[in-house]
Amino acid sequence: MSFLELDLDPRLLSALAKAGYTKPTTIQTEVLECALEQRDILANAPTGTGKTAAFLLPAIQHLLDFRRRDPGHARVLILTPTRELAEQVRQYGEKLVRGTELTIGAIVGGRDYQLDADLLTANLDILVATPGRLEYYLESERFDPRQVELLIIDEADRMLDLGFMPVVEHIANEVRWRKQTMLFSATLEGSGLNQFVHKLLEDPVRCDA
Ligand code: AMP
Repeated sequence: MSFLELDLDPRLLSALAKAGYTKPTTIQTEVLECALEQRDILANAPTGTGKTAAFLLPAIQHLLDFRRRDPGHARVLILTPTRELAEQVRQYGEKLVRGTELTIGAIVGGRDYQLDADLLTANLDILVATPGRLEYYLESERFDPRQVELLIIDEADRMLDLGFMPVVEHIANEVRWRKQTMLFSATLEGSGLNQFVHKLLEDPVRCDA
């Protein structure tokens, strides 16, 4: 299968071609087909399978399909367990949104709060964040949870190992107006994630790499 067979915006297709990607990976095909129908996704996909584009592509497509006339706060929220991963996801997303008017940014722990303050008022479409820092901005009411339409949880197994899942669950409760949730994890079975999966996702489609 080629990316051309999937229902993607020409600007995304052109960004993919520039990145040298012609064929979607297994997880990308599976997730794209279901995510574009607005289903919740439970994805079993380790690093190296193309998982980042598997959630970025439908997220960007969603934003392009449903443009807002009044730009506000982030409509897509991506949570990652580490700062390094947040930065990688942001850079990847930056490449994919280049031909569009969409913007992406990352707020992560361990750096100057002023940088985040600038980002939070910059009308970003996609925000990548580590859970602790985002929770801080939710509590201090500087991040508006009602604007989030799509919540993506990346590397949920690592979130669990690092003890972040209760914070993720709290954030998910705050962004309860969302239309869709996607949870990605390198392992699913017997990982202790189940209790969270049931609370975070509604009738999810299971996708495997
Ligand atoms: P990830 O699983 O997101 O960490 O991606 C692993 C690597 O695969 C990254 O270097 C991506 O740039 C690359 N990649 C992602 N999607 C594709 C694709 N459809 N075709 C070729 N390479 C890809």
